[in-house]
Amino acid sequence: MSADQTQPVRLVIFGRQGAGKGTQAKQLASHYGIAHISTGDMLRAAVREGTELGRQAKEVMDAGQLVSDDLILGIISDRLAEPDAQKGWLLDGFPRTPQQAEGLLGIVGDNGIDLAINLNVPEDVVIERISSRRVCSNCGEIYSVNNPPTSNWTCDNCGGDVVQRDDDTEDSVRKRLVLYNEQTEPLLDWFQDNGLLINVDGVGDPQAIAATLIDLVDARLAAQ
Ligand code: ADP
Repeated sequence: MSADQTQPVRLVIFGRQGAGKGTQAKQLASHYGIAHISTGDMLRAAVREGTELGRQAKEVMDAGQLVSDDLILGIISDRLAEPDAQKGWLLDGFPRTPQQAEGLLGIVGDNGIDLAINLNVPEDVVIERISSRRVCSNCGEIYSVNNPPTSNWTCDNCGGDVVQRDDDTEDSVRKRLVLYNEQTEPLLDWFQDNGLLINVDGVGDPQAIAATLIDLVDARLAAQ
């Protein structure tokens, strides 16, 4: 399977906060020419734009809690109906509760997901990564104190301010990790049981991890 494949490719990526999902998702989506659908990015855009959704979500997000399943399912259902998503998609940050997983299968059908990726990074490593994570407040590009933009915390892509996310406090991160373990990680069982799960070690050079991931996804799609 290559970037000019004609069948839509429909992927989901799982991983703890700070596992590098966003970074890998961007590379994969660009490689396969599919829509990168990140619920976190969509919610942050709504907060920046001051929409009704953004107003509802901001407090919940900063506290490290989850936005309601109904709200998220509404956003996803609308987003999957957009023209660019007809070429395929990669879901990032969704589903993260059993209700969201059921809702997703209701929207796309039981055979509507080709593969799920689990980007595996231990908890102590992600806590360290998140405390040094910085993001562009305009386009969402991810940096860190160890890998800053070239000039003065200004985004290399768009010139936006590169800052620490409001929800990247230690307290919020610990709450999000507990929620991940309790609500999201158990969802992997369904994908495992249906032969759809790819496990990848998320510790190491991001480019090397992306190359490994693309090889694994290609091999599994070719075998389907
Ligand atoms: P992280 O995975 O580091 O928590 P995200 O960017 O995926 O970061 O999400 C940021 C916040 O947005 C979450 O803590 C939560 O409040 C909200 N959010 C994102 N996706 C969902 C979702 N699928 N369901 C509920 N809340 C969500």
